[in-house]
Amino acid sequence: MKYQVQINHEQLPVTIVQRRGQKNLRIRLKPHAVVVSGPANLPKKELFSFVEAQMDWIKKRRGRQLERLKEMDRKKRENQGKILIRGTYVRIIPDTSVWIRKPSLSFSENKVWYTYNPDREDHQKETPEPSLLSSFYQTLATKELTEHVRKWSEITGLIPGRVSIRNQKTKWGSCSSKGTISLNWRLILCPVEISDYIIVHELCHLKHFNHSPDFWKMVAEWYPELQHAKKWLRLHSEEIFSL
Ligand SMILES: [Zn+2]
Repeated sequence: MKYQVQINHEQLPVTIVQRRGQKNLRIRLKPHAVVVSGPANLPKKELFSFVEAQMDWIKKRRGRQLERLKEMDRKKRENQGKILIRGTYVRIIPDTSVWIRKPSLSFSENKVWYTYNPDREDHQKETPEPSLLSSFYQTLATKELTEHVRKWSEITGLIPGRVSIRNQKTKWGSCSSKGTISLNWRLILCPVEISDYIIVHELCHLKHFNHSPDFWKMVAEWYPELQHAKKWLRLHSEEIFSL
């Protein structure tokens, strides 16, 4: 049997997920479905009744979600042909003047150049492929973030054992007990003052391996605009991680 629910003016399918080991019932709203999850041995009917019982909450959440999705969609359309670098959308300039085996992206003089061969079938035209885009970001991030860590190490005297630029799915950065600082390449999409905050935050973990008051005091000493950076991250993380 297929379950559906009526939410305001739309019908959404209900996806049921059952897991051994899960004790409670949980509802998540995906863009095109309501997902309810619960224990493996519970009859499906009960999961569906739980969804029905939570309809008021779901309707309210769905309204807010639709607004957010609309806003993200509008931004995407508005910024077509541009990519986000250091907090600003920069236009991608196509370049077909040189013969090239593989499409490439480069960044110079605050412009992004997209070089491709329009005569080749296998070159996706006009917009770079997502895989090309993410490797472009990673190269740029490795170069710039490593440089910024060096700059902050000089200022603070806090020197990491190693810096690694990684593809974490949810975290901006971390610091290991061995003194390795890992930074998310997506920091290159944020304004420089925001990536600076993450760098200072992780460097301070070399001294305080926790989030104690002493740790925050040290962060605030080197980075007084701490509250502003935290607020920016709260407001923009979801969007940047979805790009
Ligand atoms: Zn931390």
